[in-house]
Amino acid sequence: MDKPESGERSVAESKFKRYGSKELGKFSRSIELQQLASEELPESTSSNYRGSGSYAPYPMVYMENGSGAELTDVDGNSYIDFHAGVSAIINGHSPPEQIQAVKQQIDNGPYFATSYEKEQEAARLLNDMIPSSDLTKFISTGTEAIMSAIRLARAYTGKEKVLKFEGMYHGHTDYALVNVHPGVADLGTRRNPTKIPETTGIPQETMDTVESIPWNDIELLEEKLEREGDEIAAVMTEAVMSNSGLLWPEDGYLDELRRLTREHDVLFILDEVVTGFRMGLQGAQGYFDIEPDLTGFGKAMANGYPCAALCGREEVMRFLESGNDKSTFMGTFSGNPLVVAAAHSNLKLLQDVGEQGYQELYDRGERLTTGLREILSDAGHDVFIPEFAGFFAIHFLDGGNDPSTWSEYRDIGPNTDPEAYSRFAAAMMGEGIFLPPKTGRINLMHAHTDEHIDAALEAAKVACDNV
Ligand code: PMP
Repeated sequence: MDKPESGERSVAESKFKRYGSKELGKFSRSIELQQLASEELPESTSSNYRGSGSYAPYPMVYMENGSGAELTDVDGNSYIDFHAGVSAIINGHSPPEQIQAVKQQIDNGPYFATSYEKEQEAARLLNDMIPSSDLTKFISTGTEAIMSAIRLARAYTGKEKVLKFEGMYHGHTDYALVNVHPGVADLGTRRNPTKIPETTGIPQETMDTVESIPWNDIELLEEKLEREGDEIAAVMTEAVMSNSGLLWPEDGYLDELRRLTREHDVLFILDEVVTGFRMGLQGAQGYFDIEPDLTGFGKAMANGYPCAALCGREEVMRFLESGNDKSTFMGTFSGNPLVVAAAHSNLKLLQDVGEQGYQELYDRGERLTTGLREILSDAGHDVFIPEFAGFFAIHFLDGGNDPSTWSEYRDIGPNTDPEAYSRFAAAMMGEGIFLPPKTGRINLMHAHTDEHIDAALEAAKVACDNV
């Protein structure tokens, strides 16, 4: 396929023709289902992230079942899965032990309005596995875990503002949807950035309580905390920028962030919704040896079930206990027995996988990323694949600066060609490899084998000619 010159042309060229080497006729049931769904759901599905806009100009693909690292769609096409439930699957799809644990709870009943033994057992597992966690509250989504962390930080410190970093996504609450993926040209100066809401509908009063600065610059953080530290309740960050191209922290950055937040009586909220149980058994905090005050987990914690957690140190978490001057924490389905059974069983499986299993996952990840760099550059594509962190991203470069110098969100946008990545992902889909349709996290799971990596590399050799 010739390289289209623009996004619009790529729509015209590929729509209703092919997914890489595969005719779109091979996806006829998916196309039919999307047509039906478009009449019932905006963007044809519930989360826009997996909606028609993410797949356009290609049709959405409807997966029907998954086992281990493999998926089958409604037309009978099979795939090796590297999208991994938007990073929610770490132990492969439907491990028998987890099915059994959830089935057992279904047989007992899904919900009784009381606590139950597994809730304590699952919390105990988490508190034992995560060094910074003395106490845990379960909740349903990563969004809610971070939202609750922000409110708890306000309650604990008596301060109102939260400081986040440009390019970081922390879920879809009003407080988190500031300077997530703005146009770099609109961001203003690095010292005094403009605040740009990711969506309409956020009240100005809410925007006024959120501050945002570029990441990976300790001087900027220090200045900000010195100027406004007595108004800032928490600094919130991921340890690796997982939603904006996968940039790593500069040496010592997270340690300095920890030191400065302590110095200014500001809480450190670590968002481990993606990195938790993917970067390693102790998440990013174990990997970088840092000790946040509060952490949000989700996604891989329950291997595909809607269970998330807010964890933290005792003195702060005890603020969630009932009392007039304290914070609160609710949710009919927070810590629902079905999903907590899933999380409990998954955490036990991960303990069995152990450090050795994560080492093997990293070895496979290194082999895949090294192989892709070679294949894509041999085919004449200028790509940047950052260091593997349990997941990786592929940036097709568009001239501009040297990607090894990238350290923050502003460095990425002007220098990449996201359309080229989307064409590559579509071509890989045609070869039976499921990647995120737009530049994003490509994940490894413990269910991937060496053969899956070989197959992905073989597919890339074909797909790279269809970019
Ligand atoms: N934080 C990060 C870093 C995320 O990537 C996400 C979701 N992609 C969230 C929070 C929100 O999690 P959820 O979608 O489960 O609400």
